[in-house]
Amino acid sequence: DSDGVPGRVRVAVRLRPRNSEELVADADFADCVELQPEVKRLKLRKNNWDADTYEFDEVLTEYASQKRVYEVVAKPVVESVLDGYNGTVMTYGQTGTGKTFTLGRLGDEDTADRGIMVRAMEDILADVDLGSDSITVSYLQLYMETIQDLLDPINDNISIVEDPKTGDVSLPGATLVDIRDQQNFLELLRLGEAHRIAANTKLNTESSRSHAILMVHVKRSVAGEDAFSTENGNTSHLIKPLRPLVRKSKLVVVDLAGSERIHKSGSEGHTLEEAKSINLSLSALGKCINALAENSAHVPVRDSKLTRLLKDSFGGTARTSLIVTIGPSPRHRGETSSTILFGQRAM
Ligand code: ADP
Ligand code: MG
Repeated sequence: DSDGVPGRVRVAVRLRPRNSEELVADADFADCVELQPEVKRLKLRKNNWDADTYEFDEVLTEYASQKRVYEVVAKPVVESVLDGYNGTVMTYGQTGTGKTFTLGRLGDEDTADRGIMVRAMEDILADVDLGSDSITVSYLQLYMETIQDLLDPINDNISIVEDPKTGDVSLPGATLVDIRDQQNFLELLRLGEAHRIAANTKLNTESSRSHAILMVHVKRSVAGEDAFSTENGNTSHLIKPLRPLVRKSKLVVVDLAGSERIHKSGSEGHTLEEAKSINLSLSALGKCINALAENSAHVPVRDSKLTRLLKDSFGGTARTSLIVTIGPSPRHRGETSSTILFGQRAM
C-alpha cells in the first residue's frame, strides 16, 4: 500500500456498471470480475471454477459514487498540490470503461455526477486566496506525439521545455487561462471539449485515440517565515525581515487514450500510425510507473512526449494516483485482464 508515500503511484481499480446493451445481451453470463472492496481485492474469472486474485490500493465497485472516487483517489493529490507539491491523476483503460466519466463529467444535470476535474477545482478554489494567489489552467490534447492546445486550436504543435537547472517542465506555447470561479472553469472545460471534437473531426480520428491533459497551476504567496523554514529548515535564520515568496505547484489530470489493441488492418490511413503512437506512449508510461514502483534510480521519461510532459509531476516529491477502469462484460475479458496487469505493474 502506497498510502501517503510521495513518489509512488497509488493505484485504484474502478468497475463501471453494465450498460443497457450488456444487461440484455450478456444476461445469461456472469461478470468477468468479482470485487471485494473491504479487502481491496479483485477476482478475474478464468473459467467457472477458477479465478486470479489481485490486490489494489483501492477497489471501487459499480456502486462507488463520484464523490467517493474523488475522495479516495484524487483528494490526497489535490491536498498535496495545495501544499506546494506537484501531483498527477490519470485514468487508464479500454474505451467505454469510464475514464472520461471519472475525470471529466461536468454534472450539469446533477452535481452528484461531477467528476474529478470539477471536484478538484472546487477544493482548490476553496483553499486559495485569490487576492494573493493565482490559479491558471491549460488544456491540451496529445495525439500522435503532437501536442495541441484545446483552448486555442491555432496552437497545434506545442513544444515541451525543461528547465536544465530545476528540471521543471513547461509548455511555453500553451494558452494559460486565469480561473476566478467554478463557472469560469466549467466554461473552459466545455470550450476544450468542443475544440477536441472539432480537431478530431478535422484529423479524422476519434477522441479515444488521443490523451487529454488538464494542467492546473497553483501559485501561492507564502509568508516569509514559512519560506525560510522550507528553504533551509533552520529557524535561526529568521532574523531577516519577512518577505513574500511565491510557491508554485501543479496538478495534472490525464484522460489517457483507450488502451485497447487497435486493429492494424483498418482501411483508414491513420490507423497503423495511431496504434503505434498510442502503444508507444502507454508503454513508455507503463515503464515509468513500473520504475517508480520498484524505486529504480532510472525512470525512462525520455521515451515519449507523454512521459516527458509528466516528468516533474510524478516521482520525487510528487504524488500520483492511477485509476484503471474496467467493464464487467465477459466479452472483454482479455482487455480487462491487460488493464488490470497494467495497474499491477504500477504497485
Ligand atoms: P471512456 O472515456 O473510458 O471511453 P466513458 O467515460 O465515455 O468511457 O464511459 C462510457 C459510458 O459508460 C458512458 O456512457 C458513461 O456515462 C458510462 N459510464 C462509465 N462509467 C460509469 C459509472 N461508473 N457509472 C455509470 N455510468 C458509467
Ligand atoms: Mg473518454
